[in-house]
Amino acid sequence: MPELNALECLIEAGRPYLERHHLGRVTMGEGGLPLLAVTLGNPDPAVPAVGFFGGVHGLERIGAEVVMAFLASLVSRLRWDSSLHRSLESVRLVFMPLVNPGGLWRATRANPKGVDLMRNAPVQAGGPVPWMVGGQRISAKLPWFMGEIGEPMETESRALCDLVEREMLGHVSSISVDCHSGFGLADRIWFPFAHTAKPIQHLAEMHALCEILDQTHAQHRYVFEPQSRQYLTHGDLWDHLYMRACERPNCMLLPLTLEMGSWLWVKKNPRQLFSRSGMFNPLIEHRQQRVLRRHIAWLDFVLRAAAGMQRWLPRPELRAWHEEMALDRWYRQSVQTGARA
Ligand SMILES: [Zn+2]
Repeated sequence: MPELNALECLIEAGRPYLERHHLGRVTMGEGGLPLLAVTLGNPDPAVPAVGFFGGVHGLERIGAEVVMAFLASLVSRLRWDSSLHRSLESVRLVFMPLVNPGGLWRATRANPKGVDLMRNAPVQAGGPVPWMVGGQRISAKLPWFMGEIGEPMETESRALCDLVEREMLGHVSSISVDCHSGFGLADRIWFPFAHTAKPIQHLAEMHALCEILDQTHAQHRYVFEPQSRQYLTHGDLWDHLYMRACERPNCMLLPLTLEMGSWLWVKKNPRQLFSRSGMFNPLIEHRQQRVLRRHIAWLDFVLRAAAGMQRWLPRPELRAWHEEMALDRWYRQSVQTGARA
């Protein structure tokens, strides 16, 4: 599988700075595929952690590619960039670019058992979810299958959750980015919750992060919002991990999901409509390059934001102000107009 080979090559090229973690194996027919993660930077629990994830949905190949391209650029900079080495002293990095290697191999959204990993966590939506899309237990042959009731989480979801708990939640604060594609015309950055329209406990911190993004990259095109503004789902892995983090004393996880708006690529090249992969990925070379460039720059912003967290996290006396601003921006308006798709 080319993506797995590429990841092994990157790990090799990044020695001795990169550590390789074998998280398990996914069975596929006769054979199997490894679940791999990479860590680098300072393991001290006192420094913040940042995690980059991709390939949860096998069909959304561009998500894995963005994370791999970002890792590749870091690996090449490790050879010469002393500013990178300095910043690695103040942050821990975790990468899992191929969460669902079986799905990537088969070009399916779900894993080889037909389970949608992003509907597979033990989280039940607190309001009505869109039919099917919000998660279903009817059949593994249909999309958005959550898994059989009472079954443990899938190997891939379990591996991701264990990795986050072990490598990130031991740190006082962390940010995660999970890269997806396929929703709408705009590039979106979603934060929890996906299972309820209620705001998260760390809304002030999330707003402060959005504020430094808006101020630093004034021309950025991302729509930054809680996922619940678009639709609710069952089983969201990041809702689950966010709540796990909240159960721990002195622990904060700010999970972000990048949803690259693939309809724009389809609009510019309508022939993509006739290819399943084309609905979720830029198929034309120059567009692919542009997509990678734009989102690598954003992942680099997230890395810097994580490393400099202590500088922008709101001080206690400013939390209430950030929370008010966030409620106005993301929650009150949608209640007034009832505008939630
Ligand atoms: Zn996805």
